[in-house]
Amino acid sequence: MYRVIIEPEQPLLFGKPALGNYRSSLPFVPGTNLRGAIASQLDRDAYADLFLHQESIFFNAYPTSSPENDELPRYFPPSAVTCKHFPGTGEKDHGVKDTFLDSFLSYVKNATFVATCPECNESARSHDGIINGGNEDGLTLLNYVSTTHVGISRKRRVAQDGFLYTRVGIVQKVEEDEKGKKDKVSLYFVGLANLPEELAEMFDNENGTILHVGANRRRGMGRIRVKIEEWTEPRRWQNLETRCKQLTELLAPDSQEVLFTLDTLTPWVPDPFTGSEHPLQGQPAELLFSNTQTELATGWHHVAGLPRRSYPSVKGTFLYRTASPELVERLHQSQLGLEQDRGYGLMIVCDPYHTERMDNHVDA
Ligand SMILES: [Zn+2]
Repeated sequence: MYRVIIEPEQPLLFGKPALGNYRSSLPFVPGTNLRGAIASQLDRDAYADLFLHQESIFFNAYPTSSPENDELPRYFPPSAVTCKHFPGTGEKDHGVKDTFLDSFLSYVKNATFVATCPECNESARSHDGIINGGNEDGLTLLNYVSTTHVGISRKRRVAQDGFLYTRVGIVQKVEEDEKGKKDKVSLYFVGLANLPEELAEMFDNENGTILHVGANRRRGMGRIRVKIEEWTEPRRWQNLETRCKQLTELLAPDSQEVLFTLDTLTPWVPDPFTGSEHPLQGQPAELLFSNTQTELATGWHHVAGLPRRSYPSVKGTFLYRTASPELVERLHQSQLGLEQDRGYGLMIVCDPYHTERMDNHVDA
């Protein structure tokens, strides 16, 4: 596995179909866009060798201000909540906590769970941000710039009256210091990639490889500088067995089996033909609880020049019980479900985030 570090050099515009003449970007670099940008630079034989006969997978890269950090930026799961009045993770904000384990414990006791602010105990709302996004929470690093241009008449090849397109891309945020001096806030996108060595060696890690990704590339958008390095799992992720043990003790102290959470680092695409309701259907594990959201997995097939098939995809957290510790070991940082070559279904077991940010007010 490799870690991909992306520096934007122009505004970036990804995903999201246009609404009329208006189109805005997703807040991350989709792995499929990276894959497409690299594939388009290869000749047909190299493409077949690296992408069809071998596994070359790029996962989504999420925004962060500090690429050196030894944790991976990723979406907060849907169980993350923040204060309704002072939302966010900034200095004056009331912070973020996770409700997954607390709401499971309430569910077991048949009690109604009400999420509250970690600081003032007032009501809470769900939090949309990036874990390890930097000083703040990732999404607040992003600034959006809007460009409008005139449509060209296809018939007459001249500007057409009343035909304007607006494109909203991601750029670095600019902050002013006390003296009014403006400075760009550092912005990177960091994600994982599962690549054959030959492909990894094509990257220029000294200066960064220049690639063009996303939409509007002919109109001054999409240039990025990419470096990759071998991925060493953060220390906090490594002691998997201990984390599972702690979780089992916390949630079901008398259980002879192992309890573990399974989080989607990238959305999981269920197979519509087998009708699977959760990622471990048919495996020796019992689903106890889940908290998920669905979104559409869609995209553009660069080689075919056609839209790809769209699927519903699921992101969030699942809690399982199993008698098989080998299963837990095998699942950590593995991929499940459909569309794996496009980077879907990357999983992490017992994300330490859930226990670290839980409420601690619920008596287990
Ligand atoms: Zn509060």
